[in-house]
Amino acid sequence: MTESVFYADLPWPEVAARVAAGAPIFLPLGATEQHGRHMALNVDVVIPTAIAVRAASLVGGLVLPTVAYGNRSQPKTGGGPRFPGTLNLTAHTFALIVRDVICDLYRQNVRKIVTVNGHFENIGPTIEGIELALDALGRDVVRDLVILRVDHWDMVQPQTLDRIFPDGYPGIELEHASVIETSIMLALRPELVDLARATHDGPANFRPYDRYPRPSDEVPDSGVLSLTEGSSAEKGEWLLADSVNGIVAMIESEFSKGCKA
Ligand code: ZN
Ligand code: MN
Repeated sequence: MTESVFYADLPWPEVAARVAAGAPIFLPLGATEQHGRHMALNVDVVIPTAIAVRAASLVGGLVLPTVAYGNRSQPKTGGGPRFPGTLNLTAHTFALIVRDVICDLYRQNVRKIVTVNGHFENIGPTIEGIELALDALGRDVVRDLVILRVDHWDMVQPQTLDRIFPDGYPGIELEHASVIETSIMLALRPELVDLARATHDGPANFRPYDRYPRPSDEVPDSGVLSLTEGSSAEKGEWLLADSVNGIVAMIESEFSKGCKA
């Protein structure tokens, strides 16, 4: 049989044995969302999946099938509804997917779960899904369950951001389809990036409040919220290394505590 790190590549007896042996189970959370004219729609799927695979390989974990649909894309963090290609789940639906997967993992004796998120708008509904799972399972009866929720960009070291953004980091919200995501995609899947198609029409100039109906001029036409210039595969590897190292350190620290609340 295969030595795959992917949970769903294995037959059930092997999954059961790995879970019984204490393997951390990774759930990558993504989106199918526009990422400018220069990148594929699956950036938010490719990146957290790859980080989960690298981390799981280092800690003996397994990676679940990635949730490939994300919570509703917002103009200020993902371009929003005006771009063809983006497919949205409501926050309610997304939270229930997270809840149901966690509940079924618990029923199957998984006690170490790591969600690795690649899409900004998933943050709130992931937290809600975890809380709903704990409510459904009963907080008093699942004290042996530890769930770690991480957004991959939060694992990047300040020194790395200083190296990549010597003129100042614009913040992850504005980094949509910009230097961070483009660099990581150049490292992981360069065939899905065509920098010649980048139109450099950013950065976005958002108002400090929300207006409905949404203004038509707030998101650059390309769908890129910040800048693409300066992206490179080398920077992508720096970012990936920080995320993977940070997640491995988190797992070694948190799961060694005997999973007691
Ligand atoms: Zn993205
Ligand atoms: Mn996104």
